[in-house]
Amino acid sequence: MRLVLLGPPGAGKGTQAQRLQEELKAPQIASGDLLRAAVRNKTSLGLEAKRYMDQGTLVPDELVLKLIEERLRDPDAARGFILDGFPRTLAQAEALHEMLERNGQGLDLVVALIVPEQEIIKRISGRRTCKNCGAMYHTIFDPPRNVGLCNKCNGELYQRDDDAEDTVKMRLEVYDTQTRPLLNYYQDRGLLKRIDGVGSLEDIYHRIKSAIEEVSTKGGCAQKP
Ligand code: AMP
Repeated sequence: MRLVLLGPPGAGKGTQAQRLQEELKAPQIASGDLLRAAVRNKTSLGLEAKRYMDQGTLVPDELVLKLIEERLRDPDAARGFILDGFPRTLAQAEALHEMLERNGQGLDLVVALIVPEQEIIKRISGRRTCKNCGAMYHTIFDPPRNVGLCNKCNGELYQRDDDAEDTVKMRLEVYDTQTRPLLNYYQDRGLLKRIDGVGSLEDIYHRIKSAIEEVSTKGGCAQKP
């Protein structure tokens, strides 16, 4: 299954993608995680990307495309993947289409998580990530067993710098102007499924799973779940 998760920051893409990995036996590929790793490793790409990420604006397409193209070449992505946070611009969507087409492949499904802005701000302010393994938590909706520590690896939980309120507002604006047009783009290609992203993690997960099953039974996907 080649799946894209679309939605504004804080819509729950990362949380759902982490869970879907096991179900679909396909890796989550999160452009934000790839970029944060490049920043941590102080690569030249990472250093350039950091300025944009700190402001909450988009990293230039060519930098993101380089990372994604490399990651899609890894053997674990050969039979399917869950893209989280990519594509974010029409140019990225076109480039992804071309990358896949070169290998005779295409996307099976694009899920757009629909969440009102007020809910997003509430969610992002409580969001915490494990420094060590990247697992995600929420101080209210999905708290770790021990405050500040990851359930999986006991790593320290932190709040991302770009989850500060002003940066979040900028990221939501950027989503509206640059990423939202992708909904129509994928709708026109018959790939889009809009899913209500409000409710329990479990409910949202089941909504996504139903959409995947619908596509799988229609046939034509890269790998059935
Ligand atoms: P995320 O973790 O997906 O919220 O991404 C964090 C930040 O990384 C974003 O605010 C952007 O600055 C950058 N970023 C992540 N994915 C992309 C992308 N596909 N295109 C451009 N910038 C991106």
